[in-house]
Amino acid sequence: MTMAIIETYAVWVCKDCMLHHANGECGTCHTEWGHTVEPLSKLSGEDLSMGDTDNVRFTWYSCEGCGDGTADDRYEMWVHVHD
Ligand SMILES: [Zn+2]
Ligand SMILES: [Zn+2]
Repeated sequence: MTMAIIETYAVWVCKDCMLHHANGECGTCHTEWGHTVEPLSKLSGEDLSMGDTDNVRFTWYSCEGCGDGTADDRYEMWVHVHD
């Protein structure tokens, strides 16, 4: 069985999601100012990798990783689709 990547596309995720991918936690997981939704929950099961870490943009759109609707910086990550 081959696991060729047939498509890669960018998603824009909040800092919490980015840190969870990079470190497994974000440092504020279980504090009162931490996230209320599970980071990367919308992308569970996907093959993810970090995008360009300099590629940060402010957006009003909700996070594509967890659905957090706070207007904030979003970080680039890539989703790899396998055949
Ligand atoms: Zn966290
Ligand atoms: Zn998020």
